[in-house]
Amino acid sequence: ALHVGIVGLPNVGKSTLFNALTKAAIAAENYPFCTIDPNVGVVPVPDPRLEVLAGIVKPERVVPTAIEFVDIAGLVAGASKGEGLGNQFLAHIRETDAIAHVVRCFENDDIVHVAGKVDPLSDIEVIGVELILADMATVEKALQRAQKAAKSGNKEEIERVRVLELVSKGLNSGTPVRAIPLPPEDAALLRELHLLTAKPTMYIANVQEGGFDNNPLLEQVEAFARNEGAVVVPVCAAFEAELSQLEDEDKADFLAEIGFEEPGLNRVVRAAYRLLNLFTYFTAGVKEVRAWTIPAGATAPQAAGVIHSDFEKGFIRAEVIAYEDFVACQGEQGAKDAGKWRLEGKDYVMRDGDIVHFRFNV
Ligand code: GDP
Repeated sequence: ALHVGIVGLPNVGKSTLFNALTKAAIAAENYPFCTIDPNVGVVPVPDPRLEVLAGIVKPERVVPTAIEFVDIAGLVAGASKGEGLGNQFLAHIRETDAIAHVVRCFENDDIVHVAGKVDPLSDIEVIGVELILADMATVEKALQRAQKAAKSGNKEEIERVRVLELVSKGLNSGTPVRAIPLPPEDAALLRELHLLTAKPTMYIANVQEGGFDNNPLLEQVEAFARNEGAVVVPVCAAFEAELSQLEDEDKADFLAEIGFEEPGLNRVVRAAYRLLNLFTYFTAGVKEVRAWTIPAGATAPQAAGVIHSDFEKGFIRAEVIAYEDFVACQGEQGAKDAGKWRLEGKDYVMRDGDIVHFRFNV
């Protein structure tokens, strides 16, 4: 499954956020290296469409889709040279599909800041520099290999040298690979290197309660991210952690009291989902209404394969109803009567919200 790595300097609130996300009881202590092993949490993706579908179909159960978050041990300056838990940290990031970078935008004198003061932009830079340094080392090695291989006149290796030189130049000037404009075929040559700064990245600004407005620290992060074309999700991790302890009913009351419609974590999860460029489709039977995750652009057989690999192999057709049609027509029969029920073949590209029944051979 695709997963998002939660990274950031020590004591910015990563574990607090991760715990709230997974409701797992992992110690969040005022201690830089308390999260040594990466912790993986499977987090349901909030989707109001599920309840609407359940209201129509009245199934026995409703199953949301999920994405994985990994809490990655704190990075310190010098990680790319092996400081702190540097190498381990970088190896874990290498395995992620996207990065959620938590930055501290809350003041609290009791909680040590590794650099001595709360300065989110410098935090972003410290991590950014470490990731760029790590990528420079990777690219340098790959470049040497490719230069050797290109001596034989191999076309692909010559291309590889060209792309690696370009990327190396960008990194040297402090540009993350995701911000270097590369045509798809060039980007494809880099894929096997799993470059850290090539991964889609968003920022999670951890603010204090009431720190969503008129917060200069948050505004700094937002300005920085805008410049990068990145998304910022402001949350108060400590508040979310408390909220996650409550029963669902109490949660709703509590949120209403302070004028929020939903936990801030929902925004984090949805932003991560978008960052990974994922779509949701639904299956809607009387046994179960369920959401499934596919990459944007997936075809019907690929979508079927998410349920079971046999569904992909034996794919015949997909019966498809768009979410809006399903709701407007109050279910499958209504959609059929209204001519909104479609039979699609193996080349059909799935749309977000499609309600699907697959026909397949076993
Ligand atoms: P990590 O090292 O980045 O994983 O940070 P932790 O999640 O362990 O948090 C470090 C300390 O900051 C803990 O004592 C948390 O309770 C505290 N903390 C985390 N988020 C917030 C927040 O939003 N507001 C305040 N005031 N404290 C927080």
